[in-house]
Amino acid sequence: MSFVVAPVPQPVVAVVGEANSFPVHRIYCVGKNYADHIREMGSDPQRDPPCFFMKPADAVTAGPNVPYPPGTKNYHYETELVLAIGKEGRNISAADAQPYIYGYAVGFDMTRRDLQMKSGGLGHPWDSGKGFDYSAPVSAIVPAAVSGPITTGRLSLIVNGETRQDTDIANQIWKNAEIIAELSKLFLLKPGDLVFTGTPAGVGPVQPGDKLVATIENVGELAIEITPGM
Ligand code: MN
Repeated sequence: MSFVVAPVPQPVVAVVGEANSFPVHRIYCVGKNYADHIREMGSDPQRDPPCFFMKPADAVTAGPNVPYPPGTKNYHYETELVLAIGKEGRNISAADAQPYIYGYAVGFDMTRRDLQMKSGGLGHPWDSGKGFDYSAPVSAIVPAAVSGPITTGRLSLIVNGETRQDTDIANQIWKNAEIIAELSKLFLLKPGDLVFTGTPAGVGPVQPGDKLVATIENVGELAIEITPGM
């Protein structure tokens, strides 16, 4: 096939122990999935169900350098467990969801918080706050065949040597299988989809020079450094 303009390269994520890469199709994200984070954002976990939003596939980056994005004065990290989808499916029940998970990774849902809050307040889409270049740093994927199902385990983030986020992913409001069930009612899930499953409390701003190291037990580590803007 030939094209009228040069096609961009297929975005990919590395896989632990594999020479071949995971080709990224879509990036789905879950908002409001840990009660302590919903509270710190000024909302009520009882009344605010999780919500879905998306990032472009080419927002993925392995780092380690992540450029400070334009148009923001309040650039935040959100550390999240990421699901890598390996099979096509729709209307998947939570009980049947596990085989759709090819593997797991550690991700940052990087956020231009000022733009997100402004658009949210106006009832506008979140895209400018969430779906920008380099907004989805993600670690190598550990295959579920290696890790087994990941439903518990410590998630932590250290920024410049200081712990900022620390939870157990068992504290998710919607569990991985339930997220896949809900997403697959709305979208045809495909191999190559990534699902960011939400962040716990402790989100905050970063500046060029800041070093972030996130770990999720039995999944892996993601280390990035924020570099001067584009
Ligand atoms: Mn998030």
